Amino acid sequence: ARQFFVGGNFKMNPATQADKLALAKVLNEAELDPATEVVISPPALYLIPLKEAIRKDIKVAAQNCYLKDSGAFTGEISPAQLADAQIPYVILGHSERRTIFHETSEIVAQKTRAALDKGLSVILCIGETLKEREAEETAKVCQAQLKAAVDVLKEGDWSKIVIAYEPVWAIGTGKVATPQQAQQAHVDIRSYLSKVVSSSVADSIRIIYGGSVSAANCKELSTLPDVDGFLVGGASLKPEFVQIVNSKK
Ligand code: 13P
Repeated sequence: ARQFFVGGNFKMNPATQADKLALAKVLNEAELDPATEVVISPPALYLIPLKEAIRKDIKVAAQNCYLKDSGAFTGEISPAQLADAQIPYVILGHSERRTIFHETSEIVAQKTRAALDKGLSVILCIGETLKEREAEETAKVCQAQLKAAVDVLKEGDWSKIVIAYEPVWAIGTGKVATPQQAQQAHVDIRSYLSKVVSSSVADSIRIIYGGSVSAANCKELSTLPDVDGFLVGGASLKPEFVQIVNSKK
């Protein structure tokens, strides 16, 4: 069985240390389903203080890293530095990184390789735009984004990866994918991995859904056979994140 996984991607929020500590307090005092793996991802500046403030059964994740371990790369943080700071996870390939910061699937794959080489686990994000969905290219786009990673990973690497399927049109829009849309996309991703990697990787990898997940819609999505959790943006900054963590409870 695949362990249910809920990630909170704070993006470039919250604005203050005090807000961040208030969020940590809510989580620290909440009753969380012990069967769910919970990871929260603040801006890099807050990784270490949040790791110290948060209960030990919640892990922290960086939102990005570079593909080299050190050197003249102003503004970047390396996988080696994250590993040294004992940050266990990094989110890579988020649609905001791909769109706003022009990261290609090849760059995302190189970053994934570099992160795994330092022992980090990776939340690898993929997903189609509205235009691509309307052109019925969802599966094709997800496969192309994954293929770059498939090309640089070995079969054993996949146990350290969680795939986040995040349709771009659902991110921050309040337009959540329907259960049918999410389930179908996840099945397509799993069958692609079965074909190009192995059936055991396809069966064991967690594929989580992201895009306007809320306390109101998480329960139904959590019952889908191929949805193994969520990557939550806006709602991860609110007390309702607790209900999302507890979707299966
Ligand atoms: P929202 O939950 O705000 O739609 O964001 C989803 C997301 O991008 C998580 O990485």
